[in-house]
Amino acid sequence: QQHTPYYYTDSAHAESIIRPRNKFSHKGTFGHALIIAGSYGKIGAAILAGKACLRSGVGLLTLHIPECGYEIAQISLPEAMVSVDVDRKFNTALGSVSSYSSIGIGPGLGQEDATAQMLAKLLTEARLPLVIDADALNIISQHNDLLDKIPAKSILTPHPKEFQRLAGETANDFDRLETGRKFAQKYNIIICLKGAHTAVILPNGDVHFNSTGNAGMATGGTGDVLTGIITSLLAQGYPPEHAAILGVYEHGLAGDRAASRKGQSAMIASDVIENLKID
Ligand code: AMP
Ligand code: MG
Repeated sequence: QQHTPYYYTDSAHAESIIRPRNKFSHKGTFGHALIIAGSYGKIGAAILAGKACLRSGVGLLTLHIPECGYEIAQISLPEAMVSVDVDRKFNTALGSVSSYSSIGIGPGLGQEDATAQMLAKLLTEARLPLVIDADALNIISQHNDLLDKIPAKSILTPHPKEFQRLAGETANDFDRLETGRKFAQKYNIIICLKGAHTAVILPNGDVHFNSTGNAGMATGGTGDVLTGIITSLLAQGYPPEHAAILGVYEHGLAGDRAASRKGQSAMIASDVIENLKID
């Protein structure tokens, strides 16, 4: 009998992945995440990703943002440490990243040349799988030589337009899925093809379709929230495959809780964060 590569993430599967917190754990147990995000006018993306990361159980969080976001971040996210870029408007310089347990990059990042150089350096130097989203994906789309530099098992979270920029035009949803499978296998990465039923494609070509989420999540910032969640799970030591599958599931579940409380029209990305409960 032939092995079919399609799976469905239901609550039983998601719960089997979750690791309960040990009574004797301390903040060091849950890792130190670094989120590189934001640019002038888009510091909110960094805040959303950072807050979602904290609400998903990380031990410590550092946000790396351009200088213009310093006060905004310190005031709106007192639990986070802030690493300020020397550039006022964009993320262009990044020191050593070897001490972090996970790194997420992309929300609101902008696509300045100097930002692209910073990303290229990060891809070359990082010794762990990254979470790569939004403008970080767009930069990679414009510099195809970067694809080969993506660390193994990194998690890419493109929405359909970002995936099209990355992998080219596809004829329909089935074609997109098959293109995604080839892409994930070729580069040894995990791709979360975001949409109504987000497909998490693993490096072996297996596809895990998500069961949670709703149209209320079609609003600005919800993707940034997903980046924060997955970066948090990686920092806590979940294997990349589990971080992606569980992160996508919990993101949708939080969205479903937000919709039942506020309704799909009124809910915003912050409501998704407030309804996270991963345990
Ligand atoms: P982004 O476009 O990067 O902000 O990401 C949007 C997020 O919201 C992704 O995680 C999508 O899967 C989710 N989302 C958007 N629209 C829907 C929908 N109609 N049903 C379920 N999830 C959605
Ligand atoms: Mg996005």
